Amino acid sequence: MSENKAHCSFCGQEQGPETPLIAGEEGHICEECVRLAFQVVASWGRKRAAAKPIQNLLKPIEIKEQLDRYIIGQVLAKETLAVAVYNHYKRLSMENAAPSMQINEKDVEIEKSNILLLGPSGTGKTLLASTLARIVGVPFVIADATTLTQAGYVGEDVESILTRLMDAADGNRDLAEWGIVYIDEIDKLARAGESATGTRDVSGEGVQQALLKLVEGAKVKLTNKGKKDQGEETYIDTRHILFIAGGAFAGLEKLLEKRLDTKGERGIGFHIDISDPRQAYDQMRLFEEVRPEDLRHFGLIPEFIGRFPVISALHDLDEAALVKILTEPKNALVRQYQRMFDFEGATLDFSAEALNAIARLAIERGTGARGLRGVMESLLRRTMFELPSQSDVVGYRIDEDAVKENKPVAVTQTSEIAAQGT
Ligand code: ADP
Repeated sequence: MSENKAHCSFCGQEQGPETPLIAGEEGHICEECVRLAFQVVASWGRKRAAAKPIQNLLKPIEIKEQLDRYIIGQVLAKETLAVAVYNHYKRLSMENAAPSMQINEKDVEIEKSNILLLGPSGTGKTLLASTLARIVGVPFVIADATTLTQAGYVGEDVESILTRLMDAADGNRDLAEWGIVYIDEIDKLARAGESATGTRDVSGEGVQQALLKLVEGAKVKLTNKGKKDQGEETYIDTRHILFIAGGAFAGLEKLLEKRLDTKGERGIGFHIDISDPRQAYDQMRLFEEVRPEDLRHFGLIPEFIGRFPVISALHDLDEAALVKILTEPKNALVRQYQRMFDFEGATLDFSAEALNAIARLAIERGTGARGLRGVMESLLRRTMFELPSQSDVVGYRIDEDAVKENKPVAVTQTSEIAAQGT
Protein backbone atom coordinates (compact mmCIF):
# COMPACT_ATOMS: atom_id res chain seq x y z
CA MET A 1 0.00 0.00 0.00
CA SER A 2 1.31 3.45 -0.84
CA GLU A 3 1.36 5.72 2.22
CA ASN A 4 -0.01 8.97 0.82
CA LYS A 5 -2.99 7.54 -1.13
CA ALA A 6 -6.31 6.93 0.56
CA HIS A 7 -7.48 3.34 1.06
CA CYS A 8 -10.84 1.77 1.76
CA SER A 9 -10.89 1.22 5.52
CA PHE A 10 -12.85 -2.04 5.02
CA CYS A 11 -11.11 -3.90 2.21
CA GLY A 12 -7.89 -1.92 1.80
CA GLN A 13 -8.54 -1.06 -1.86
CA GLU A 14 -6.45 1.89 -2.98
CA GLN A 15 -8.15 5.01 -4.31
CA GLY A 16 -7.76 5.48 -8.04
CA PRO A 17 -9.58 6.81 -11.10
CA GLU A 18 -11.55 3.52 -11.32
CA THR A 19 -12.07 3.20 -7.56
CA PRO A 20 -13.41 6.39 -6.03
CA LEU A 21 -13.74 6.36 -2.24
CA ILE A 22 -16.24 8.04 0.07
CA ALA A 23 -14.41 9.85 2.83
CA GLY A 24 -15.59 9.76 6.43
CA GLU A 25 -14.27 11.45 9.60
CA GLU A 26 -11.62 8.84 10.12
CA GLY A 27 -11.60 6.59 7.09
CA HIS A 28 -12.85 5.79 3.61
CA ILE A 29 -15.14 3.28 1.98
CA CYS A 30 -15.23 1.95 -1.58
CA GLU A 31 -18.29 1.29 -3.77
CA GLU A 32 -17.95 -2.47 -3.43
CA CYS A 33 -17.98 -2.30 0.38
CA VAL A 34 -20.99 0.06 0.36
CA ARG A 35 -22.90 -2.51 -1.69
CA LEU A 36 -21.88 -5.33 0.62
CA ALA A 37 -22.85 -3.31 3.69
CA PHE A 38 -26.24 -2.60 2.12
CA GLN A 39 -26.86 -6.31 1.64
CA VAL A 40 -25.92 -7.03 5.24
CA VAL A 41 -28.16 -4.29 6.60
CA ALA A 42 -31.07 -5.43 4.40
CA SER A 43 -30.74 -8.94 5.80
CA TRP A 44 -30.91 -7.48 9.34
CA GLY A 45 -34.22 -5.90 8.41
CA ARG A 46 -35.56 -9.20 7.09
CA LYS A 47 -34.33 -11.04 10.17
CA ARG A 48 -35.95 -8.49 12.47
CA ALA A 49 -39.26 -8.87 10.63
CA ALA A 50 -38.98 -12.65 10.82
CA ALA A 51 -38.16 -12.58 14.52
CA LYS A 52 -41.27 -10.56 15.36
CA PRO A 53 -43.65 -13.54 15.60
CA ILE A 54 -41.53 -15.29 18.18
CA GLN A 55 -40.78 -12.23 20.25
CA ASN A 56 -44.43 -12.11 21.24
CA LEU A 57 -44.97 -15.86 21.35
CA LEU A 58 -48.09 -16.73 23.31
CA LYS A 59 -48.05 -19.52 25.89
CA PRO A 60 -49.98 -22.73 25.15
CA ILE A 61 -52.96 -21.73 27.32
CA GLU A 62 -53.14 -18.35 25.58
CA ILE A 63 -52.89 -19.98 22.14
CA LYS A 64 -55.79 -22.28 23.09
CA GLU A 65 -57.83 -19.27 24.29
CA GLN A 66 -57.28 -17.57 20.95
CA LEU A 67 -58.27 -20.73 19.08
CA ASP A 68 -61.46 -20.89 21.17
CA ARG A 69 -62.58 -17.61 19.63
CA TYR A 70 -62.74 -19.14 16.17
CA ILE A 71 -63.09 -22.89 16.61
CA ILE A 72 -65.86 -24.71 18.42
CA GLY A 73 -65.10 -27.90 20.35
CA GLN A 74 -62.10 -30.06 19.34
CA VAL A 75 -60.57 -29.38 22.75
CA LEU A 76 -58.00 -32.17 22.60
CA ALA A 77 -56.77 -31.14 19.15
CA LYS A 78 -56.55 -27.50 20.23
CA GLU A 79 -54.48 -28.36 23.30
CA THR A 80 -52.18 -30.69 21.37
CA LEU A 81 -51.66 -28.10 18.65
CA ALA A 82 -51.13 -25.26 21.12
CA VAL A 83 -48.33 -27.23 22.79
CA ALA A 84 -46.74 -28.37 19.51
CA VAL A 85 -46.79 -24.89 18.01
CA TYR A 86 -45.49 -23.28 21.20
CA ASN A 87 -42.62 -25.78 21.43
CA HIS A 88 -41.77 -25.35 17.78
CA TYR A 89 -41.48 -21.57 17.93
CA LYS A 90 -39.91 -21.61 21.39
CA ARG A 91 -37.14 -23.81 19.99
CA LEU A 92 -36.67 -21.42 17.09
CA SER A 93 -36.55 -18.43 19.41
CA MET A 94 -33.86 -20.18 21.48
CA GLU A 95 -31.82 -20.96 18.39
CA ASN A 96 -32.19 -17.35 17.34
CA ALA A 97 -31.46 -15.90 20.75
CA ALA A 98 -28.33 -14.19 22.04
CA PRO A 99 -25.25 -16.44 21.78
CA SER A 100 -25.31 -17.25 25.50
CA MET A 101 -28.79 -18.75 25.08
CA GLN A 102 -27.99 -20.65 21.94
CA ILE A 103 -28.15 -24.38 21.98
CA ASN A 104 -24.61 -25.71 21.84
CA GLU A 105 -23.58 -29.02 20.38
CA LYS A 106 -23.66 -30.85 23.67
CA ASP A 107 -27.28 -29.88 24.26
CA VAL A 108 -30.16 -32.14 23.49
CA GLU A 109 -31.37 -31.42 20.02
CA ILE A 110 -35.11 -30.89 20.01
CA GLU A 111 -36.62 -32.28 16.85
CA LYS A 112 -39.33 -30.57 14.90
CA SER A 113 -42.83 -31.72 15.81
CA ASN A 114 -44.81 -31.81 12.60
CA ILE A 115 -48.45 -32.53 13.20
CA LEU A 116 -50.88 -35.04 11.71
CA LEU A 117 -54.58 -34.27 12.09
CA LEU A 118 -57.05 -37.09 11.63
CA GLY A 119 -60.73 -36.37 11.34
CA PRO A 120 -63.73 -36.28 9.04
CA SER A 121 -64.21 -33.57 6.44
CA GLY A 122 -65.47 -30.21 7.66
CA THR A 123 -64.51 -30.62 11.31
CA GLY A 124 -62.02 -27.78 11.42
CA LYS A 125 -58.62 -29.20 10.42
CA THR A 126 -57.81 -26.48 7.90
CA LEU A 127 -59.39 -23.85 10.11
CA LEU A 128 -57.17 -24.91 13.04
CA ALA A 129 -53.99 -24.76 10.96
CA SER A 130 -54.79 -21.39 9.38
CA THR A 131 -55.90 -19.85 12.69
CA LEU A 132 -52.67 -21.00 14.34
CA ALA A 133 -50.59 -19.35 11.63
CA ARG A 134 -52.55 -16.13 12.15
CA ILE A 135 -52.12 -16.26 15.92
CA VAL A 136 -48.36 -16.77 15.66
CA GLY A 137 -48.08 -14.29 12.79
CA VAL A 138 -46.26 -16.47 10.27
CA PRO A 139 -47.02 -17.04 6.57
CA PHE A 140 -49.34 -19.92 5.79
CA VAL A 141 -50.17 -21.98 2.72
CA ILE A 142 -52.52 -24.86 2.03
CA ALA A 143 -51.53 -27.61 -0.39
CA ASP A 144 -53.80 -30.37 -1.58
CA ALA A 145 -51.96 -33.69 -1.58
CA THR A 146 -54.13 -35.00 -4.41
CA THR A 147 -52.93 -32.32 -6.83
CA LEU A 148 -49.25 -32.76 -5.98
CA THR A 149 -47.01 -34.82 -8.21
CA GLN A 150 -43.45 -36.00 -8.23
CA ALA A 151 -41.04 -33.86 -10.22
CA GLY A 152 -41.36 -34.58 -13.89
CA TYR A 153 -45.06 -35.41 -13.84
CA VAL A 154 -47.91 -33.17 -14.92
CA GLY A 155 -49.38 -31.25 -12.00
CA GLU A 156 -48.21 -29.09 -9.13
CA ASP A 157 -44.79 -30.28 -8.02
CA VAL A 158 -43.95 -30.34 -4.36
CA GLU A 159 -41.49 -27.44 -4.56
CA SER A 160 -44.26 -25.12 -5.71
CA ILE A 161 -45.58 -25.16 -2.13
CA LEU A 162 -42.45 -23.28 -1.11
CA THR A 163 -42.81 -20.75 -3.91
CA ARG A 164 -46.30 -20.00 -2.60
CA LEU A 165 -44.96 -19.74 0.94
CA MET A 166 -42.42 -17.18 -0.27
CA ASP A 167 -45.27 -15.21 -1.83
CA ALA A 168 -47.24 -15.40 1.40
CA ALA A 169 -44.17 -13.97 3.17
CA ASP A 170 -43.92 -11.12 0.62
CA GLY A 171 -40.60 -12.47 -0.53
CA ASN A 172 -39.02 -12.39 2.95
CA ARG A 173 -37.14 -15.67 2.94
CA ASP A 174 -36.39 -15.60 6.67
CA LEU A 175 -40.09 -15.29 7.42
CA ALA A 176 -41.02 -17.97 4.86
CA GLU A 177 -38.59 -20.36 6.51
CA TRP A 178 -40.63 -20.10 9.71
CA GLY A 179 -43.97 -20.53 8.03
CA ILE A 180 -46.67 -23.16 8.40
CA VAL A 181 -47.69 -25.47 5.54
CA TYR A 182 -50.97 -27.36 5.72
CA ILE A 183 -51.17 -30.42 3.48
CA ASP A 184 -54.76 -31.52 3.05
CA GLU A 185 -56.00 -34.98 2.04
CA ILE A 186 -52.76 -36.64 3.04
CA ASP A 187 -54.63 -39.94 3.41
CA LYS A 188 -55.19 -40.00 -0.35
CA LEU A 189 -51.47 -40.63 -0.82
CA ALA A 190 -51.76 -43.99 0.89
CA ARG A 191 -50.67 -46.97 -1.15
CA ALA A 192 -53.49 -49.09 -2.43
CA GLY A 193 -53.09 -52.68 -1.42
CA GLU A 194 -52.60 -52.41 2.28
CA SER A 195 -55.73 -50.34 2.51
CA ALA A 196 -58.83 -50.83 0.47
CA THR A 197 -59.62 -47.12 0.52
CA GLY A 198 -56.42 -45.78 -1.02
CA THR A 199 -57.21 -44.23 -4.35
CA ARG A 200 -53.56 -43.62 -5.22
CA ASP A 201 -51.02 -46.29 -5.91
CA VAL A 202 -47.39 -45.93 -6.88
CA SER A 203 -47.66 -42.22 -7.69
CA GLY A 204 -49.08 -41.58 -4.21
CA GLU A 205 -46.01 -43.18 -2.73
CA GLY A 206 -43.81 -41.09 -5.01
CA VAL A 207 -45.45 -37.92 -3.71
CA GLN A 208 -44.92 -39.13 -0.15
CA GLN A 209 -41.22 -39.51 -0.97
CA ALA A 210 -41.06 -36.07 -2.55
CA LEU A 211 -42.84 -34.49 0.42
CA LEU A 212 -40.56 -36.34 2.79
CA LYS A 213 -37.60 -34.38 1.49
CA LEU A 214 -39.30 -31.09 2.33
CA VAL A 215 -40.60 -32.24 5.68
CA GLU A 216 -37.25 -33.66 6.79
CA GLY A 217 -35.56 -30.36 6.07
CA ALA A 218 -33.69 -29.54 2.91
CA LYS A 219 -32.35 -26.60 1.02
CA VAL A 220 -34.68 -26.41 -1.92
CA LYS A 221 -34.08 -24.31 -5.02
CA LEU A 222 -37.02 -22.22 -6.14
CA THR A 223 -37.56 -21.24 -9.70
CA ASN A 224 -38.42 -17.58 -9.95
CA LYS A 225 -40.90 -17.91 -12.77
CA GLY A 226 -42.26 -14.52 -13.74
CA LYS A 227 -40.60 -12.75 -10.84
CA LYS A 228 -38.78 -9.47 -11.23
CA ASP A 229 -35.55 -10.92 -9.88
CA GLN A 230 -35.77 -13.54 -12.59
CA GLY A 231 -32.67 -15.58 -13.10
CA GLU A 232 -31.50 -15.21 -9.51
CA GLU A 233 -31.63 -18.47 -7.65
CA THR A 234 -33.44 -18.56 -4.34
CA TYR A 235 -33.00 -21.36 -1.89
CA ILE A 236 -35.38 -22.09 0.94
CA ASP A 237 -34.31 -24.07 3.95
CA THR A 238 -37.29 -26.14 5.08
CA ARG A 239 -35.76 -27.26 8.39
CA HIS A 240 -37.87 -24.87 10.45
CA ILE A 241 -41.09 -24.89 8.46
CA LEU A 242 -43.88 -26.46 10.47
CA PHE A 243 -45.83 -29.00 8.46
CA ILE A 244 -49.37 -29.91 9.44
CA ALA A 245 -50.93 -32.73 7.46
CA GLY A 246 -54.62 -33.56 7.61
CA GLY A 247 -56.91 -36.23 6.30
CA ALA A 248 -60.19 -38.03 6.95
CA PHE A 249 -58.51 -41.46 6.90
CA ALA A 250 -61.77 -43.18 6.06
CA GLY A 251 -61.36 -46.89 6.65
CA LEU A 252 -58.71 -46.45 9.32
CA GLU A 253 -61.28 -47.20 12.00
CA LYS A 254 -61.66 -50.72 10.62
CA LEU A 255 -57.91 -51.33 10.98
CA LEU A 256 -58.02 -49.92 14.50
CA GLU A 257 -60.99 -52.01 15.49
CA LYS A 258 -59.24 -55.08 14.22
CA ARG A 259 -56.06 -54.37 16.14
CA LEU A 260 -57.80 -53.38 19.34
CA ASP A 261 -60.13 -56.38 19.17
CA THR A 262 -57.48 -58.97 18.46
CA LYS A 263 -55.19 -57.63 21.16
CA GLY A 264 -58.11 -57.33 23.49
CA GLU A 265 -56.98 -53.82 24.39
CA ARG A 266 -60.44 -52.36 24.43
CA GLY A 267 -62.15 -55.50 25.58
CA ILE A 268 -64.43 -57.38 23.30
CA GLY A 269 -67.07 -55.68 21.26
CA PHE A 270 -65.60 -52.28 20.49
CA HIS A 271 -67.79 -52.00 17.48
CA ILE A 272 -69.21 -48.77 16.32
CA ASP A 273 -71.51 -47.72 13.58
CA ILE A 274 -70.06 -44.45 12.37
CA SER A 275 -73.15 -43.60 10.40
CA ASP A 276 -74.93 -43.23 13.74
CA PRO A 277 -74.23 -39.69 14.99
CA ARG A 278 -74.63 -40.76 18.61
CA GLN A 279 -71.58 -42.93 18.15
CA ALA A 280 -69.42 -40.25 16.56
CA TYR A 281 -67.62 -39.59 19.82
CA ASP A 282 -66.71 -43.25 19.98
CA GLN A 283 -65.13 -42.88 16.59
CA MET A 284 -63.03 -40.04 17.91
CA ARG A 285 -62.01 -42.13 20.89
CA LEU A 286 -61.00 -44.79 18.42
CA PHE A 287 -58.87 -42.33 16.41
CA GLU A 288 -57.15 -41.31 19.62
CA GLU A 289 -55.78 -44.84 19.74
CA VAL A 290 -53.94 -44.41 16.45
CA ARG A 291 -50.37 -45.58 16.49
CA PRO A 292 -47.77 -45.22 13.74
CA GLU A 293 -48.17 -48.89 12.79
CA ASP A 294 -51.86 -48.31 11.98
CA LEU A 295 -50.93 -45.54 9.59
CA ARG A 296 -48.39 -47.86 7.99
CA HIS A 297 -51.09 -50.47 7.47
CA PHE A 298 -53.26 -47.76 6.03
CA GLY A 299 -50.57 -47.19 3.39
CA LEU A 300 -48.36 -44.31 4.49
CA ILE A 301 -44.64 -45.03 4.26
CA PRO A 302 -42.84 -45.44 7.61
CA GLU A 303 -40.34 -42.63 6.97
CA PHE A 304 -43.20 -40.25 6.32
CA ILE A 305 -45.09 -41.29 9.46
CA GLY A 306 -41.88 -40.90 11.46
CA ARG A 307 -41.73 -37.23 10.50
CA PHE A 308 -45.14 -36.50 12.02
CA PRO A 309 -44.66 -37.33 15.69
CA VAL A 310 -47.67 -35.35 16.91
CA ILE A 311 -50.94 -37.03 16.01
CA SER A 312 -54.29 -35.57 16.97
CA ALA A 313 -57.88 -36.52 16.23
CA LEU A 314 -60.82 -34.28 15.46
CA HIS A 315 -64.31 -35.58 15.93
CA ASP A 316 -67.52 -35.24 14.01
CA LEU A 317 -69.53 -32.20 15.04
CA ASP A 318 -72.95 -32.88 16.55
CA GLU A 319 -76.07 -30.72 16.28
CA ALA A 320 -75.24 -28.62 19.34
CA ALA A 321 -71.71 -27.94 18.05
CA LEU A 322 -73.04 -26.91 14.64
CA VAL A 323 -75.51 -24.48 16.25
CA LYS A 324 -72.59 -22.95 18.15
CA ILE A 325 -70.59 -22.71 14.90
CA LEU A 326 -73.53 -20.87 13.34
CA THR A 327 -73.67 -18.27 16.08
CA GLU A 328 -70.59 -18.06 18.30
CA PRO A 329 -67.29 -17.58 16.43
CA LYS A 330 -66.22 -14.02 15.67
CA ASN A 331 -67.14 -14.45 12.03
CA ALA A 332 -70.03 -16.89 12.58
CA LEU A 333 -72.30 -17.44 9.56
CA VAL A 334 -75.40 -16.01 11.24
CA ARG A 335 -73.50 -12.82 12.07
CA GLN A 336 -72.23 -12.59 8.51
CA TYR A 337 -75.72 -12.84 7.02
CA GLN A 338 -77.13 -10.45 9.61
CA ARG A 339 -74.50 -7.93 8.60
CA MET A 340 -75.42 -8.35 4.91
CA PHE A 341 -79.08 -7.73 5.71
CA ASP A 342 -78.09 -4.80 7.87
CA PHE A 343 -76.43 -3.21 4.83
CA GLU A 344 -79.89 -3.23 3.24
CA GLY A 345 -81.49 -1.80 6.38
CA ALA A 346 -83.25 -5.05 7.29
CA THR A 347 -83.07 -7.34 10.31
CA LEU A 348 -82.58 -11.11 10.21
CA ASP A 349 -83.67 -13.19 13.19
CA PHE A 350 -83.43 -16.92 13.77
CA SER A 351 -85.36 -18.88 16.38
CA ALA A 352 -83.45 -21.49 18.41
CA GLU A 353 -85.48 -24.26 16.73
CA ALA A 354 -84.58 -22.89 13.32
CA LEU A 355 -80.88 -23.03 14.13
CA ASN A 356 -81.26 -26.64 15.27
CA ALA A 357 -83.12 -27.49 12.05
CA ILE A 358 -80.36 -25.89 9.96
CA ALA A 359 -77.75 -27.90 11.87
CA ARG A 360 -79.70 -31.12 11.24
CA LEU A 361 -79.86 -30.40 7.51
CA ALA A 362 -76.10 -29.84 7.45
CA ILE A 363 -75.52 -33.14 9.25
CA GLU A 364 -77.61 -34.89 6.58
CA ARG A 365 -75.25 -33.54 3.94
CA GLY A 366 -72.38 -35.32 5.68
CA THR A 367 -69.80 -32.60 5.05
CA GLY A 368 -69.49 -31.40 8.64
CA ALA A 369 -69.65 -27.69 9.30
CA ARG A 370 -68.95 -27.05 5.63
CA GLY A 371 -72.56 -28.04 4.92
CA LEU A 372 -73.86 -25.12 6.98
CA ARG A 373 -72.99 -22.54 4.37
CA GLY A 374 -74.84 -24.48 1.67
CA VAL A 375 -77.97 -24.77 3.81
CA MET A 376 -77.90 -21.06 4.65
CA GLU A 377 -77.33 -20.09 1.02
CA SER A 378 -80.23 -22.14 -0.23
CA LEU A 379 -82.43 -20.77 2.58
CA LEU A 380 -81.59 -17.12 1.94
CA ARG A 381 -80.74 -17.02 -1.77
CA ARG A 382 -84.16 -15.91 -2.98
CA THR A 383 -84.53 -13.40 -0.17
CA MET A 384 -81.14 -11.84 -0.87
CA PHE A 385 -82.12 -11.60 -4.53
CA GLU A 386 -85.27 -9.65 -3.71
CA LEU A 387 -84.17 -7.73 -0.62
CA PRO A 388 -82.41 -4.74 -2.26
CA SER A 389 -85.60 -3.98 -4.22
CA GLN A 390 -88.02 -4.32 -1.29
CA SER A 391 -89.28 -1.11 0.23
CA ASP A 392 -91.85 -2.21 2.79
CA VAL A 393 -89.90 -5.09 4.38
CA VAL A 394 -88.11 -4.23 7.62
CA GLY A 395 -86.69 -7.66 8.24
CA TYR A 396 -86.98 -11.43 8.01
CA ARG A 397 -87.74 -14.02 10.62
CA ILE A 398 -86.63 -17.61 10.34
CA ASP A 399 -88.38 -20.23 12.44
CA GLU A 400 -88.42 -23.99 12.15
CA ASP A 401 -91.19 -23.98 9.51
CA ALA A 402 -89.32 -21.42 7.44
CA VAL A 403 -86.33 -23.78 7.36
CA LYS A 404 -88.53 -26.73 6.39
CA GLU A 405 -90.24 -24.75 3.64
CA ASN A 406 -87.00 -23.03 2.67
CA LYS A 407 -88.76 -19.67 2.89
CA PRO A 408 -87.97 -16.90 5.40
CA VAL A 409 -90.93 -14.96 6.76
CA ALA A 410 -90.91 -11.33 5.71
CA VAL A 411 -91.66 -8.78 8.40
CA THR A 412 -93.20 -5.59 7.06
CA GLN A 413 -93.90 -2.40 8.92
CA THR A 414 -97.61 -3.23 9.01
CA SER A 415 -97.09 -6.77 10.27
CA GLU A 416 -94.82 -5.41 13.01
CA ILE A 417 -97.42 -2.92 14.12
CA ALA A 418 -100.08 -5.64 14.02
CA ALA A 419 -97.86 -7.92 16.13
CA GLN A 420 -97.29 -5.17 18.67
CA GLY A 421 -101.03 -4.58 18.83
CA THR A 422 -101.80 -8.20 19.81
P1 ADP B 1 -61.60 -29.75 7.26
O1 ADP B 1 -60.27 -29.16 6.94
O2 ADP B 1 -61.60 -30.53 8.55
O3 ADP B 1 -62.22 -30.52 6.15
P2 ADP B 1 -62.39 -27.00 7.49
O4 ADP B 1 -61.47 -26.55 8.56
O5 ADP B 1 -62.02 -26.62 6.09
O6 ADP B 1 -62.60 -28.57 7.56
O7 ADP B 1 -63.87 -26.50 7.81
C1 ADP B 1 -64.73 -25.95 6.84
C2 ADP B 1 -65.48 -24.77 7.41
O8 ADP B 1 -66.38 -25.24 8.42
C3 ADP B 1 -64.58 -23.78 8.11
O9 ADP B 1 -64.16 -22.75 7.26
C4 ADP B 1 -65.44 -23.23 9.21
O10 ADP B 1 -66.26 -22.20 8.73
C5 ADP B 1 -66.34 -24.39 9.57
N1 ADP B 1 -65.87 -25.20 10.71
C6 ADP B 1 -65.46 -26.49 10.67
N2 ADP B 1 -65.16 -26.93 11.88
C7 ADP B 1 -65.36 -25.91 12.73
C8 ADP B 1 -65.22 -25.75 14.16
N3 ADP B 1 -64.82 -26.76 14.94
N4 ADP B 1 -65.51 -24.54 14.67
C9 ADP B 1 -65.93 -23.52 13.90
N5 ADP B 1 -66.10 -23.61 12.57
C10 ADP B 1 -65.82 -24.78 11.98
